[in-house]
Amino acid sequence: MQTFSRIVRFLEATLFPPLCLLCRAHLLAEERTRWLCGTCTIPFDFPIGFFCPFCKKRSPTIPSCHPETRFAGIAPWKYENEKIRNLIHLLKYEGIKAAAIPLGEELRSYLLKSAALHGVPLSNFIIIPVPLHPRKLRKRGFNQSLLLARSLRIPEMPLLEHALVRIRPTPPQTALGNRKARTENIYGSFAISNEEAVRGKNILLLDDVITSGATMREAAMALKKGGAKRIIGLAAARAF
Ligand SMILES: [Zn+2]
Ligand SMILES: [Zn+2]
Repeated sequence: MQTFSRIVRFLEATLFPPLCLLCRAHLLAEERTRWLCGTCTIPFDFPIGFFCPFCKKRSPTIPSCHPETRFAGIAPWKYENEKIRNLIHLLKYEGIKAAAIPLGEELRSYLLKSAALHGVPLSNFIIIPVPLHPRKLRKRGFNQSLLLARSLRIPEMPLLEHALVRIRPTPPQTALGNRKARTENIYGSFAISNEEAVRGKNILLLDDVITSGATMREAAMALKKGGAKRIIGLAAARAF
């Protein structure tokens, strides 16, 4: 059986070699592991470093210069960046899970450089992906933030899948107009299911997009209530 599946995989790779996720060009052997061609490499939109989720200024501290946000933000790209939006769309709405691979790879590099710049030892952090409500998870079939977290591949940072849970279904933040509506929409929608796993820990909270920052702020608040120490909020793109 194992030999058979190996043959199938070999035939698949030979007959249908992976194409660039963005432009569908044939990939060179060395590009195949990251699913993007050389032309579709995406330079970072923001300089290396943390930002304050409230005033958007650069912030070397955790939490940021506005401590009420409870975390320091970090995101390499603007949400208007077409290539990034396309990759996130492939991942979230077309179920192309391979799109998490190039995103995770770039996120890792941006995160490691930012942490080094601010002198933050990431080996003290655990990764928690922003969870979906179970109903949404059933509908989509996977949590895109969890896939991103897995493709970060930083061995010294353990991944904790189920410590943070979504207890209330909410309409998507992108469907709501202003900051106030988004804050009210998300209020009280997270809880800690495993306080022991969170208490006293530094946490890297991971989401695909920071829209207004309200979702991350709410998740960070729940983690803080559960006794978390320092929180970094990492996303591929930020919309502000
Ligand atoms: Zn390409
Ligand atoms: Zn600030």
